[in-house]
Parts: sequence; C-alpha cells; structure tokens
Amino acid sequence: MAYDFDLYVIGAGSGGVRAARFAAGFGATVAVAESRYLGGTCVNVGCVPKKLLVYGAHFAEDFEQASGFGWSLDEAQFDWATLIANKDREINRLNGIYRNLLVNSGVTLHEGHAKIVDPHTVEINGERHTAKNILIATGGWPQIPEIPGHEHAISSNQAFFLKELPKRVLVVGGGYIAVEFAGIFHGLGAQTTLLYRGELFLRGFDGSVRKHLQEELTKRGMDLQFNADIERIDKQADGSLKVTLKDGRQLEADCVFYATGRRPMLDNLGLENTAVKLDQKGFVEVDDLYQTSEPSILALGDVIGRVQLTPVALAEGMAVARRLFKPEQYRPVDYKMIPTAVFSLPNIGTVGLTEEEAREAGHEVQIFESRFRPMKLTLTECQERTLMKLVVDAQTDKVLGCHMVGPEAGEIVQGLAIALKAGATKRHFDETIGVHPTAAEEFVTLRTPVGA
Ligand code: FAD
Ligand code: NDP
Repeated sequence: MAYDFDLYVIGAGSGGVRAARFAAGFGATVAVAESRYLGGTCVNVGCVPKKLLVYGAHFAEDFEQASGFGWSLDEAQFDWATLIANKDREINRLNGIYRNLLVNSGVTLHEGHAKIVDPHTVEINGERHTAKNILIATGGWPQIPEIPGHEHAISSNQAFFLKELPKRVLVVGGGYIAVEFAGIFHGLGAQTTLLYRGELFLRGFDGSVRKHLQEELTKRGMDLQFNADIERIDKQADGSLKVTLKDGRQLEADCVFYATGRRPMLDNLGLENTAVKLDQKGFVEVDDLYQTSEPSILALGDVIGRVQLTPVALAEGMAVARRLFKPEQYRPVDYKMIPTAVFSLPNIGTVGLTEEEAREAGHEVQIFESRFRPMKLTLTECQERTLMKLVVDAQTDKVLGCHMVGPEAGEIVQGLAIALKAGATKRHFDETIGVHPTAAEEFVTLRTPVGA
C-alpha cells in the first residue's frame, strides 16, 4: 500500500525534530505535527529558558563579589519583566530556527494537535494522513499531586511567564527542577523555601553531592525544609497563600511552585485505536529499538520515561532515523555514563556511578574527595566551597564516577565523561597534566583516598 509519508512524527520537541530531520536527510518522506511550540519543552519551557534565568540569578553573586576586585557599584536593581521579555525574544528566535531547520530539510510541518486514528493514520486539523511508520515523541507534562488547593499552585510551565517576581516562593519537590528554580528565585531576590518530603533532596545523586549542596544553599540563606509535605493550600483574602503541612505547621507564600515530576503527554493521542501498551508508570512501553507493541508505531524521549534529558532524546531520535532509513549506520544508544548537570547555584556536574551505586554493585571502591574555596572567591567575603569527588574501583583502577558541586560543574564534567566513556583509570587521571590555575585541575591532582 502507498502511504502519504514514510514517517509521521508526533511532537516537534528535541527527539521528534532530530528524528524527522535525519530521516528526511536519509531520503524518507517525513511529516511532523506540533500542537504547541516548535522545539518542544527544552526550547520553550525547559533547558534553554531555565539556563537563561539561572544566568540572570547568578549576577546577584557577581555584583556582591565585584567589590573584592576593586569595583564599586551603586545598589544593583533587578527587573523581572525585562528578563522575561528578553528571554521570550530569544525563544521566539529559536522557534524560527526550528521552523527553518525542519522546512529546509524537506520535512512537512503540520501545526495542530495530532491524533492517531489507526496504526497507519494520523488526524490533524480535520485531515487524515497515512504513514508507514508513526513516531510518538510527545514528551511530558508537569505532575502536581491533587491535594486540596492544588489549583493555586504553579508548575515550571507557568513559572517562565510570571508577570512579577513573587516576594515569597515555596518550591515543592527535591529533584532537578525544584533545586534549579529555588536557586533562580533565591538568586533574583525572592524569599525562597524549598520543601521536600524526604530526608535529603536529589535522591539518586551521590551522597556527598547532596550534603554539600544542602550546606551551600543553607549558607546562602535559602530555607530548606526536609521531611515536609503539604496537606492543603488556601488562598487568603489578600491573594497570598496559606500552606498547611501534614505535621500541622503553616507557612505563607505568594507563590507555591510544584516540581514533583512529569507524566507522559498522551492526552487525546488516540492510543486506544492501537495496540500500543503502557508500562507500570504509564509511559509508552518500547523495546530496545523504540518499537511499541504496535508494529508500525515507535516512541522515544520523555514519553518512554527512560532518561528525561534532551541529549538522550536527541540520541534516540538519531537511532530511530538510522534504524528505519539508514540501517547500515545504526548504532544503539548507550545509556551508560550519561553525564548530567543540575543548574543549581552552585551547579552540580556528575557522570558515572555514585559511591552508593558502586558499593551496591559490589565494587571495592576507593574514594578521592576534595573541598576547597575557589580561587576567584579568595578576594571576596564569599565562603562558598567546591566539592570534587572520584569513585574508583580499587581492583581495576577504573574511574567509576566523577561528581562535582561548584562553578561550571556541568562544563567540567562534559570532558570527564569522554574519559570515563573511554575507560579511564585513576592512573590516567594522575598522569594527565593539569590546566593551571583552574578548578578543574583538582580532578587530576587528587592523590590520597579518603580514609587512607
Ligand atoms: P518534548 O521536548 O517535550 O517535545 C514534545 C512535543 O510534542 C511538544 O512540543 C508538545 O507540544 C508536542 N505534542 C505533544 N502531544 C502532541 C500531539 N498530540 N500533537 C502534536 N504535538 C504534540 N534536559 C536537559 O538535558 N538539560 C536541562 O537543563 C533540562 N532542563 C529542563 C528544565 C525544565 C523546567 C524541564 C521541564 C525539562 C528540562 N529538561 C532538561 C528535560 C528536557 O526538556 C526533556 O528531556 C526533553 O525536552 C524531552 O524531549 P522530547 O522530544 O521527548 O519531548
Ligand atoms: P524529578 O523526578 O527529578 O523529581 C521529582 C521530585 O518530586 C522528587 O524529589 C520527588 O521526591 C518529588 N515528588 C514526587 N512526587 C511527589 C509528591 N506527590 N509529593 C511531594 N513530592 C513529590 O522531577 P522534576 O520535576 O524535577 O524534573 C523532571 C525531569 O526533567 C528530571 O527528572 C530530569 O530528567 C529532567 N530535568 C533535567 C534537568 C537538567 O538536566 N538540568 C533540569 C530539569 C529537569 P522523591 O525523591 O521522594 O521521589
């Protein structure tokens, strides 16, 4: 049977755009549907605007520290509306770039909500299009628990478009988004509380990293409340919010921001018209080749709930395009040693196993750790300390994990990730000459294991 397209991609986010562009480049006829914004979460309400706000928040420290270097400034003023307007302008520019990228690579763009009506047919804007393969790349959506008053809370989707910077913000959650946005609000001058239900935030990250960040945020005056969970939120007559915790305590805020994870975006997608199955958490179930239980339908990115990071969605998009249209170039995505950064202030950068994971996996580990005051701060009052940590297999000398909390941790860890991917040993680190004077050189000068 002749189809309208070889591939119909639903969702022009990180993974969908990558798969569509490369598939078209390999000679396939490709369409992509997008209901909301070109570039998806990352470009519009994720990585990019978030990083711009983090840069904005960082200036507070820069101004504070400048006097140690002889600069004097009148009292710095911050204007939220200017930051948001400039951010919006940049995102508009990127939307245009994404449009050009798609159109110039020969992809047909359909703007509207796409629904699958049968395993080879998609309906959009009242029209039906057939395709040999359909790719679900619809991403995720913030998930807010349905406690009484949850309608008064916002998620990251709204945070990027607030009209004003709230005076008092309560951020709920202990994952990436909570920690990053707490840093943004705090840095920009809001009185910020981060509320997390467990003992210590950033579950799954290395224990030293979690503890170190807790200490640094506390030093900066952020209010961290752990073992705390919200029972209800009430709007008061003056518009502020009264938050009642499960232990009976009450807090007041002007904005309650939930960052409690993301669900797959499957709303009105028409999966009931297919044999696509969901996993236990509700994400689209796929095999190693991103194949769903419906032979003509594939899925990738956040909607499959594996690793919810843009570079992972990009790699999956590339793998799908190659497997379908350039099989001789197909390489599976390697999910080991995925580096990641949390753009908290200070940043976290990490790659490989945490100490806890390494011990759990049965490695006999040697730990190398350093905490120091970055050189840039020595002329300032700032007491911030950087943490660097290596987890090494004592038998093989292989470096199993690198972890850092400090300025530019994400930038530094990207290079280390290549070394770890190539199987670097501690000896390789020791034999590497440092770049002086940098913070990064500490990673090649760690000589004595902790406790030795
Ligand atoms: P998405 O980028 O979400 O794209 C899905 C697209 O599908 C959307 O544009 C949506 O509108 C569209 N769509 C959905 N349903 C339909 C339909 N039925 N019809 C038509 N279109 C539809 N990752 C990082 O690596 N680094 C970061 O710093 C980072 N920061 C983040 C900060 C925040 C606040 C958030 C929320 C996420 C962040 N992420 C970050 C994660 C990253 O954004 C996602 O992992 C990535 O965008 C996933 O790409 P995707 O292609 O799977 O989905
Ligand atoms: P995460 O899964 O990272 O964290 C969710 C947090 O919310 C956890 O601390 C979790 O606690 C807590 N939580 C979950 N449910 C509830 C509940 N019902 N009540 C109270 N707390 C709850 O999700 P995020 O929303 O922060 O981010 C989504 C994903 O987006 C991330 O996992 C990451 O993959 C990606 N992302 C990446 C970024 C980056 O690369 N820098 C930045 C932002 C997002 P517990 O630990 O106890 O389960």
